[in-house]
Amino acid sequence: MTQNDHHSPSTAPEPGQPAGPASVTSLADRRRAREAALPQAQVTAQRARLRVATVDDTCWCCHAPVRAIAGAIADPALTPDGSGFLPLELVDELLVAELDPRELRSRKIGPLRHRESPGVAGGYIANGCIECDALIGRFRIEDLFHEHRMTGAPIGRLDSGIVLYADLQPAQRRLGRSTSL
Ligand SMILES: [Zn+2]
Repeated sequence: MTQNDHHSPSTAPEPGQPAGPASVTSLADRRRAREAALPQAQVTAQRARLRVATVDDTCWCCHAPVRAIAGAIADPALTPDGSGFLPLELVDELLVAELDPRELRSRKIGPLRHRESPGVAGGYIANGCIECDALIGRFRIEDLFHEHRMTGAPIGRLDSGIVLYADLQPAQRRLGRSTSL
């Protein structure tokens, strides 16, 4: 996948520019240039509307049917690949901070929290089985997500019905550092 790579052509001033107060034009130009360079910059102070996306699976440990959070559905303009999906690794911290475990439980979603994992030093924020709390591994969830996408089904079909409003700036900072997207 490509890195955060949506640079638009630079906004060179056009010859027929309307005459006006220079300071106003220049402010507007600067704002346009900034937005062109940073497509995710629309998220400033306001909180973005997110919908929690889940995939269905069977617990490897107790074989109960489980529902795991795969990420968040957002305005496509706010997602790195324009798909309208933010993967769990980008939004895990804000989901842990914002989601009510009781609401998750009422929708048959196990707790999302930091967990130890044999394969990952220090563990990571992961889903668990709603019955036995066994870890539902991130790679497993990514596989299920990609299987869903391979069928051509829309992202919206993964909508769990849980809506939250969150500041995406921390996620975008992580995206800036990420080399895996
Ligand atoms: Zn289980």
